[in-house]
Amino acid sequence: MTTLLEPGQIPQATGDAPSVLAPDANDVFAHRARRFAQLAEGHPLGDYLRFMGRLAEAQQHALDAMPAMPLPDDAAKSQSRQHGMPLVPAQSWPRVAAWRSALRAILTEVAPPASAAAASTIHSLQALDDAALEALAGRVLRTELYGEQADKLPFVAAALQVCWTRLAAQLGTEVQPLEEKGVCPCCGALPAVSVIGASAELPGLRYLHCALCNTEWHMTRAQCTACDAGESAVAYQHIEGDKGLVQAETCDVCKAYLKLIRRDKDAAADPVADDLATLALDILVDESGFSRSGPNLLLVPGGG
Ligand SMILES: [Zn+2]
Ligand SMILES: [Zn+2]
Repeated sequence: MTTLLEPGQIPQATGDAPSVLAPDANDVFAHRARRFAQLAEGHPLGDYLRFMGRLAEAQQHALDAMPAMPLPDDAAKSQSRQHGMPLVPAQSWPRVAAWRSALRAILTEVAPPASAAAASTIHSLQALDDAALEALAGRVLRTELYGEQADKLPFVAAALQVCWTRLAAQLGTEVQPLEEKGVCPCCGALPAVSVIGASAELPGLRYLHCALCNTEWHMTRAQCTACDAGESAVAYQHIEGDKGLVQAETCDVCKAYLKLIRRDKDAAADPVADDLATLALDILVDESGFSRSGPNLLLVPGGG
């Protein structure tokens, strides 16, 4: 049911394209909301995708309302650069209370017509105190997405994404590429997916898309994003009939895979929305013995 595609079908772009792309705070989640709505039409998971679209819309509203965040000072920035560390590391950067306000606003906005299960999750989240919410945030930022209360984590992650997207947008071009390509140069989180043709000006270039802060950073194509194995180790699979818009880049060395979103084939594609709309591809690749190397923080493991 799968087709193997030759790597490097599009020549590597060269020149002085930026190595790091900051998120567009004015539109990143609004774009995602529009894409979820589009993908929901005629999709077997249509109700779920429509709900995720409302969540993305609420994220944009929370981001619009979020105040400017404290940033690292010059000394802290140069120390991070010296040690090849991200500027605002997700696991250690002090979280401001504003993320909890964002969470409460998001929960209020998506609450009314959610499914019974989601309504009960939202209700129990609204009853938690600050300490309990901070504990859940810690789990999301350490990518501990399984176990008790896993149903609450996508909502917590949605608010943390807003907070770190604000940080990434404020830092802008101050974020420099790291030698370690497997983690986000802004926040140190893992990539959710990679994207080809991340913007119309950058056709053919591959960028990794941060699961937390929506920063994108350049990485050579046809190379495993988890272990750096080269072209001979990677292969591409996609679901027959979907025109190859979303592919899984699998690695024979470390048996990991990460999805590749071909924005060059459809400029409306979104890293998070197109990922969640193609869970059938994850199932297919999992069954062939590959494990996904980066998370989609909005996915409830084993749920949906
Ligand atoms: Zn990041
Ligand atoms: Zn690998």
